[in-house]
Amino acid sequence: MKSIWDSFRLDGKRSFVTGSSRGIGKAIAMALGEAGAEVIFHGSQPGEKLAATLEEAKKKKIQCRSVTGDLSDPEQVQHLISSVGEIDILVLNASVQKYQRVPEFNMKEFETEFRVNVGSAFLLIQGFLPGMLQKKWGRVISLGSVNQWKQSPRLAVYAATKSALCNLIQNCAREYGKDGITFNNIAPGVIATDRNQAVLSDPQQSAEILKLIPAGRFGQAEDMAGLALLLCSEAGSYLTGSDIPVAGGRQL
Ligand code: NAP
Repeated sequence: MKSIWDSFRLDGKRSFVTGSSRGIGKAIAMALGEAGAEVIFHGSQPGEKLAATLEEAKKKKIQCRSVTGDLSDPEQVQHLISSVGEIDILVLNASVQKYQRVPEFNMKEFETEFRVNVGSAFLLIQGFLPGMLQKKWGRVISLGSVNQWKQSPRLAVYAATKSALCNLIQNCAREYGKDGITFNNIAPGVIATDRNQAVLSDPQQSAEILKLIPAGRFGQAEDMAGLALLLCSEAGSYLTGSDIPVAGGRQL
């Protein structure tokens, strides 16, 4: 008889996690790999972090390789789709986040943020969906943010990209629910990764932010991994169109 743990296994599944050279993407990719999936790691360009992550995964006996490409460039996204090949699991994790007030944004910066955070997600879904439809099985997860609900003066553009991404995902959930493909959004709170290092290493700023988090601590990248695994596995097959904060209560 099958145990509940079997329904979390991902043996035989192929996964692609954008922005998995480090941070949350890396933690999710490692979890999928440890559950038996083949993992295709990704970074914007070749570098030490991506190489070290791949090495770490190989040591864990995860079947893996890496690809690189700038997601702000649609041609590079198309190249990624063909070099990755068919997959069962797509994790839309990479993003650009510019702390800047609205009047300071120029159109190029605005477009870059939308191209990486929303445009590449659209192209990747478009590219990988036909294979999932053929197999009648697929998992797509996007990384949103508590900024979808919690407004911040310097993150208006970033928050708008995350709400747009979540909306895209939820519309796809409705459209492909009968095809065995689930689409869900994970919305992290304040997670201690490279992008927050400057703010969180400032004692005054970090103390102010900490007051807003009911759990009383900043999240770690690995805090996202359990939910991601659930959403990617058979155990999560009845979860679709969900938008789930993993934020220590910061969404309240
Ligand atoms: P991170 O540590 O800053 O890592 C970003 C990843 O995205 C890296 O792998 C980076 O590749 C890749 N990337 C960045 N720009 C790219 C581009 N133009 N083309 C291709 N790849 C690109 O990120 P994180 O903090 O783990 O965040 C992961 C996700 O969670 C993001 O969607 C973020 O918006 C979301 N999130 C994070 C937090 C948080 O507090 N950390 C909170 C809410 C939501 P390279 O290594 O090559 O640069």
